[in-house]
Amino acid sequence: MTGSAQDNRTAAATSIRQAAGAQAEIADESGVLQVKDLRVQYGTPRGPVKAVDGVTFTLRPGERFGLVGESGSGKTTTAFALMRLIEPPGEITGGRALLGGVDLLKLSDEEMRQARFAQIALIPQGAMNSLNPVMRIGYQLADTIKAHDVGTRERELDDRIDGLLASVGLSADVAKMYPHELSGGMKQRACIAMAISLRPTVILADEPTSALDVVVQRQVLQTLRRVQEELGASIIFVGHDMGLMAQFVDRIGVMYAGKLVEIGPVKELFGHPKHPYTQLLIGSLPNLDAKGVLKGIPGMPPSLLQPPPGCAFHPRCPKILAHCPSLVPELRQDETDHWVSCHLYGNGQ
Ligand code: SF4
Repeated sequence: MTGSAQDNRTAAATSIRQAAGAQAEIADESGVLQVKDLRVQYGTPRGPVKAVDGVTFTLRPGERFGLVGESGSGKTTTAFALMRLIEPPGEITGGRALLGGVDLLKLSDEEMRQARFAQIALIPQGAMNSLNPVMRIGYQLADTIKAHDVGTRERELDDRIDGLLASVGLSADVAKMYPHELSGGMKQRACIAMAISLRPTVILADEPTSALDVVVQRQVLQTLRRVQEELGASIIFVGHDMGLMAQFVDRIGVMYAGKLVEIGPVKELFGHPKHPYTQLLIGSLPNLDAKGVLKGIPGMPPSLLQPPPGCAFHPRCPKILAHCPSLVPELRQDETDHWVSCHLYGNGQ
């Protein structure tokens, strides 16, 4: 990186910090990213839909944190809110997202543009839709780099693009290719290269392997893990596949109806799931030892327009208690690193 490019990025980071100066004192240094009481809603003719309803968690340094849940549980909306990519009629209605002591939700649009890729980057779902079909891959990478590191010289740019492509297992020739000339796995690797092009602290990966076959899926995940470790970045991995999560992440947060209902280290969560929804999710995974009919989760995910009162899972819960339909359980930590939001654990009584 040239001195001027470095200067530009340093100045941008400084301006973001200064703009958020007063917010710094509420940061907790123990986490890279602290999400507190995040709320997102969508306006509809029938009333507001609370897609994310008070989500709180901390992403630790170098951690791979999985956000899992059924469609509509709010996991992707949470990731998009952290990138400030919620479009009307959606709106972030509350909360904080502290990254390095700065609340991303309070940055101006220009400050947030500077923070994207440089501090927090998204690997989107479906690489086909996120790459520009009429631009060569190298041009798209150069565009991202130049938008932040103004003044980067052409020679240095070529070297950086070659290095980025190599780091995700792609040859330098890919820079000259258009997206339609790449396989699904190569396109997803190009998206990873784009996301890491400015060495962000936090990477959000939204179902990054959902459209790939299992062999390519594993290769892409291995690449993602390697580049994350090389960067020393933290990852939020959004998905619905508990099996895939188990192989990749350190901790899992389970989402239901816009809320986090359980958070725990992956081994603990799979070994001793506490929330009845998590138990059913894990119980629905195929198991070679227990052949037979696969177990599903009874009922349907709730409408977020009129979510059930009390615990939103109560209409589907096999362990429902008398007060579950009227009292909302809080997310509470047990004596370990395990959090659960359920009245079975003394919550709310
Ligand atoms: Fe089931 Fe009640 Fe726990 Fe909700 S709070 S998951 S309804 S036991």
